[in-house]
Amino acid sequence: MAGGGIPSLAFGLALRRALGAAVAVTVLDPGRPSGGDPRAFAVSPAAFRMLDVLGVGATLRRQAQPIAAMTITDSRLEDAVRPEYLRFDGEPDGQPLALMLEGSVLSASLVSACRDAEVRLETAAVASFAADVAGVAVTDGAGATRQVSLLVAADGARSRLREAAGIGWTGRRYRQLALVATVSHEHPHGGVAVQHFLPGGPFAILPLAGPGRAHPHRSSLVWTEAESEARRLLAEGPEAATAGLRDRFGPALGAVALDTPLRALPLGVGLARRFVAPRLALLGDAAHEIHPLAGQGLNLGLGDAAALAEHVVGAVRLGLDPGSDEVLARYQTDRRFEAVALAGLTDALNRLFSNDSLPVRALRDLGLGLVDRAGGAKGFFAEEAAGGGRRAPSLMRGEAL
Ligand SMILES: Cc1cc2nc3c(=O)[nH]c(=O)nc-3n(C[C@H](O)[C@H](O)[C@H](O)COP(=O)(O)OP(=O)(O)OC[C@H]3O[C@@H](n4cnc5c(N)ncnc54)[C@H](O)[C@@H]3O)c2cc1C
Repeated sequence: MAGGGIPSLAFGLALRRALGAAVAVTVLDPGRPSGGDPRAFAVSPAAFRMLDVLGVGATLRRQAQPIAAMTITDSRLEDAVRPEYLRFDGEPDGQPLALMLEGSVLSASLVSACRDAEVRLETAAVASFAADVAGVAVTDGAGATRQVSLLVAADGARSRLREAAGIGWTGRRYRQLALVATVSHEHPHGGVAVQHFLPGGPFAILPLAGPGRAHPHRSSLVWTEAESEARRLLAEGPEAATAGLRDRFGPALGAVALDTPLRALPLGVGLARRFVAPRLALLGDAAHEIHPLAGQGLNLGLGDAAALAEHVVGAVRLGLDPGSDEVLARYQTDRRFEAVALAGLTDALNRLFSNDSLPVRALRDLGLGLVDRAGGAKGFFAEEAAGGGRRAPSLMRGEAL
């Protein structure tokens, strides 16, 4: 496997959990960016069921913050009152909308479980590969070659392997950056996530678990801004950024402070024209990149991992070739629809909301109000975000392979 991101580690672990020594799994990654992942992720209930089956859910749940409710607002910064246009609550049985987990915590837990399950983790990049009917020869940066049945390209949105396989990419960069940081605040968040649509882009305050941390009241921030404005904020330094934060947080959480420096991440939308090539499967952002406003990119990647693992395990158990065109075609059929749908939906929402035109604002506020009052429409959005419908892969329904 090329790339040691979260979906890729989950895929490797799923194979070893299901097949044990019958399959050898090697993950090559030249190294995650220094300082770890600055993001925190809203992990859907379905993705969490998968983590449970993989044996890491119990430990992670202790470090996770359940999102009990999410409120969406569309007011301007200068508005004295910020009305709530749309609110999603968790299930009446107490199931939260999602669980917030810091990326570094999620990665560390999967890395440790992979080591226990004897997934080989190597610090190296995949430099080239050549597939034929018998297998695929994968060469790393030091020139060492391994012969495998299947190469999984999980090397991110700007995947070199996708390009080398001749798979086209349809997409574009947003002229926005996501500024990401952890913030501490005076008052408890009560497990409520806030999505504030502003003209520069969505501003999300996502609750984090507090117990055992230096500060009990913490949230993860995803502050989307037009690129030039984001660069100006970064250049001005932490004091200017903190002042900007205070305006955007409003008074609800009391005094706010940056716990970590703001990190800027580029944003884009894109879809691979195909998710597979001979003996190669694209997984995670290498197959699809979506705007983080719905917090679904990682969940989508975990869905890929669950589906590919299901097809590979099924083939190995039947004594079939796990890298065959038939296995890969089934994987692609399973995953394309959800990826296309989410890329389209998040792109449309970003266009609709990153906009300050008065008629557009009036129409979208009317739309949000209508969705809030129409139980069916709201249920549809909540179900899509939860990700565990009938078509979901077995692991996402909580079933072992
Ligand atoms: C601001 C922001 C907030 C987000 N919030 C959420 C959220 O709340 N919920 C959610 O579900 N999703 C969220 N996402 C989306 C999520 O972060 C991504 O979908 C996910 O991290 C993609 O994982 P990946 O492993 O596919 O790619 P990446 O995380 O990009 O990992 C790719 C890996 O491949 C390695 N690599 C590169 N080239 C090679 C090579 N040649 N050989 C070997 N390895 C290589 C890299 O070192 C890297 O480790 C967010 C995204 C952003 C930008």
